[in-house]
Amino acid sequence: MKPQTKLSTLCVHAGELEDAHGSPHTPIYQTTTFRFKKTADLLDVIKGRKPGHLYTRYGMNPSIVSVERKLAALEQAEAALAFASGMAALASLFLAHGRAGIVCFGEAYGGTLEILSEQLPGLGLAVHFLRGSDSDGLERLLAQGVGLVFIETPTNPTLEIADIAAIAARTKAHGALLAVDNTFASPVNQNPLPLGADLVMHACTKYLGGHSDLTAGCVMGSAELLAPLGTWRRSFGSTIAPETAALLARSLRTLVVRVRAQNANAQAVAEAMVGHPRVARVLYPGLPDFPGHALASRQMSGFGGILTIEVVGGGDEAVRVADSLQLIMLAPSLGGVESLVTQPCTTTHHSLTSEERHARGISDGMLRLSIGLEDAADLIADLERALG
Ligand SMILES: *Cc1c(COP(=O)(O)O)cnc(C)c1O
Repeated sequence: MKPQTKLSTLCVHAGELEDAHGSPHTPIYQTTTFRFKKTADLLDVIKGRKPGHLYTRYGMNPSIVSVERKLAALEQAEAALAFASGMAALASLFLAHGRAGIVCFGEAYGGTLEILSEQLPGLGLAVHFLRGSDSDGLERLLAQGVGLVFIETPTNPTLEIADIAAIAARTKAHGALLAVDNTFASPVNQNPLPLGADLVMHACTKYLGGHSDLTAGCVMGSAELLAPLGTWRRSFGSTIAPETAALLARSLRTLVVRVRAQNANAQAVAEAMVGHPRVARVLYPGLPDFPGHALASRQMSGFGGILTIEVVGGGDEAVRVADSLQLIMLAPSLGGVESLVTQPCTTTHHSLTSEERHARGISDGMLRLSIGLEDAADLIADLERALG
């Protein structure tokens, strides 16, 4: 695949392997092992002297290799590794590159906060948490030699936008690595690697899978930086399954059309909610008066499918609205073809105290919406009915 090939074309064609029977796409290689004619041939593959497939837990299976090549192409990366979940990807990333200390800069996914705050410190890794606005704190930790900076942008649920290029430049100046969780944006709306990030990860469970029917994760970057993650993946056995890899590849072929339609739907819903008498605030990067709008316009090519509304009347009223929605389903997760709603204070940020939530700008009246592929008019009608 030529590097200048456009994203939609890459989604359909990148990474597909030739098949002896003429299948247009890589079939599912539902096998745990691969046989060899001679011991010498097997040794060549084990020693890395020749390419080949070997054992599925090692990721050496055509269905896995194929989806990894497609994933790498979507983020303009040299290589990608696919995992059994987003958290499996993050665990390997932190263990492989967090030995010199990790800074979590800004808001992060609940599972990410849990492993960073509770599990990794127990293994002796130094983990620091900074508000996204604390540039001085970041500079101080980088000067002290911290090795890995980790960010998400846009964040959940307030959709704050971090300046990837600016953070990458500061990180690089100190010889540290920058890893970006690009799950909320998807590769259609944002590519952190060309902006200077070293590693990018996705919960493929969300937009990349896109149908709420698979759990997977991935990390993209240089082959050199990914090598130690591959070792952890092999030892944990947290490799993506061949069936899931094939299902993910199937989903990636339609990624661009899905995400662009979700961007447009979310923009329409956000605009309809602005000025609604029962809605105190609408947080969406595509709204011109949103604080991160200018930065998002620079670093993203679309504003994404997630928006947060703050319902007038606080937590009880937000629960009433969420429970009254008929089309939009009450469920955690995001990025699928169906629209979902959650109240952050009872789901993703449930483990924080109300003071901690307040400090992060998360109010009880907030509802986070993951906008799917239904007709925008139907989604707006559902929200207006539930609000009214
Ligand atoms: C869902 C999610 C994860 C974790 O992915 P799983 O597949 O559930 O393990 C990580 N980061 C973000 C931003 C997510 O939304």
